[in-house]
Amino acid sequence: MNLIDSHCHLDASEFDLDRAAMLARSFAAGVTRWVVPGITAASMDKTRAMRQQYGAEIALGLHPIYEPEHSELSLQQLRGALDLGEAIAVGEIGLDFYLPDLNHERQIYFFEAQLKIARDFDLPVIVHIRRSQDQVLKYLRKWRVKGGIAHAFNGSEQQANAFIQLGFCLGFGGALTYSGSQRIRRLAATLPLSSLVLETDAPDMVPSWLAGTPPQRNEPAELAKIAVELAALRGMDVADLAEACTQNTQRVLLLGA
Ligand code: ZN
Repeated sequence: MNLIDSHCHLDASEFDLDRAAMLARSFAAGVTRWVVPGITAASMDKTRAMRQQYGAEIALGLHPIYEPEHSELSLQQLRGALDLGEAIAVGEIGLDFYLPDLNHERQIYFFEAQLKIARDFDLPVIVHIRRSQDQVLKYLRKWRVKGGIAHAFNGSEQQANAFIQLGFCLGFGGALTYSGSQRIRRLAATLPLSSLVLETDAPDMVPSWLAGTPPQRNEPAELAKIAVELAALRGMDVADLAEACTQNTQRVLLLGA
């Protein structure tokens, strides 16, 4: 099995003490490639180090939940870093209308500015969507980027189809391992296979077997077991599912094999 973890924050401080060992476990589990999305201008160099030191694919972008930290200078720094040609996508960008203390207008401002940047650099995007499916779709329709990934998808079937029509795949991960997540499990089971990509969102979004108080740290190696769960939901062989999700990730992020 050769899986790509299409969304993992390998640069998070949670991994500072054992990053190499954690990635060795990932490799041993068959999760051999990683896509690391950026979160702020200040952390871009650490994200870039994941590519330089570990061969991870990287995206660069300004994450909506760090909206208070972003500025015009951050956008300039993002353009400068994208000029280096290392990033395969602009992300993690989007809208989070769930967390109460974030400014919606500023989130929309930075989301639109970065969709424009993605167009200027001809790159796909990785979008974070929370309580904002229709708003994110609205701005994607307005700016028409190259497609990308709707990370941690948790919308309706109709919204899923709208993303698919805009050239997006839908990211599924730990959430589908909970028997109570009925809507996500139903979508994961029934959406077209060509629209699915696998992700852990490590160190967050722990699968059911790591849940508890406090939850344990999630890591890319867990993606192999998440793939087994998704294959079971779809009633298919896990090797076939893994192959399809890997190809989908490569297609939508324009990655080589
Ligand atoms: Zn993320």
